[in-house]
Amino acid sequence: MESELTLMAVHAHPDDEVIGTGGVFARYAEEGVRTVLVTCTNGEQGDGPDGVKPGEPGHDPAEVSRFRLEELRESVAHLAIGHVELLGYPDSGMAGWDSNADARVFANVPLDESAGRLAELMERYRPQVVVTYDENGNYGHPDHIQAHRIAVAAAEATGIPRKLYHTAISRAGIAKMMDHLRSTGVDMGEFELPEDFGTPDEEITTVVDVSAYFERKLKALKAHASQGDTGFMLGMPDEVQRQVLGREDFVRRFSTVPAPDREDDLFAGLR
Ligand SMILES: [Zn+2]
Repeated sequence: MESELTLMAVHAHPDDEVIGTGGVFARYAEEGVRTVLVTCTNGEQGDGPDGVKPGEPGHDPAEVSRFRLEELRESVAHLAIGHVELLGYPDSGMAGWDSNADARVFANVPLDESAGRLAELMERYRPQVVVTYDENGNYGHPDHIQAHRIAVAAAEATGIPRKLYHTAISRAGIAKMMDHLRSTGVDMGEFELPEDFGTPDEEITTVVDVSAYFERKLKALKAHASQGDTGFMLGMPDEVQRQVLGREDFVRRFSTVPAPDREDDLFAGLR
């Protein structure tokens, strides 16, 4: 038998834990699995409390990081996450921002150092299942790309995770959401998603039903309401929120245990 079942998710910013993994955190915690959230940055380059954007007058990175970590504590409570590990690196900001040039930001810290710290956490918690983003960080944010890199490097260096996953956003699910929004007369304004946004459905190996945890995910999302992109999801009609937040999709990158090609459980083959 394996030792205590443990799920570790490696995320870039306070708030990233909710949409793609909030349901699996809540569900597996309820099933008695130990859950560990690693948040790599303090989120300094997020929106300020009154909506002030990074780079605008009045945006105080230290203050932003303080309240975003407060928000994280509340979110973690809603999702019953057992252990939170903050790597504490400064947020790199979106690709192209001035903050990218700062040597101290997460994306610029040598991989040996950051992946080494994550490897220590893997040694401590011994997660059988590790979840992070794909090699493009799912949408190109430098910190999400770096979170992917350190998770893969630490998994390889320690050999501890039995299964490694990327979070995925179903392309068919997005199309359904957009149709739904249009049909309910939501004004989409200029909003349009790139054609290649999301993961082609044939690549998705694992779909976890987390509809029972919808309310808790929504509360966790509301805890991060200061962030503009979170506000976008909170502004969606209830049915769309249920559709988007009620399932979590993943691409399995490797498994050292026999597991079905298509699974509905991250721990398939480990119980
Ligand atoms: Zn993020």
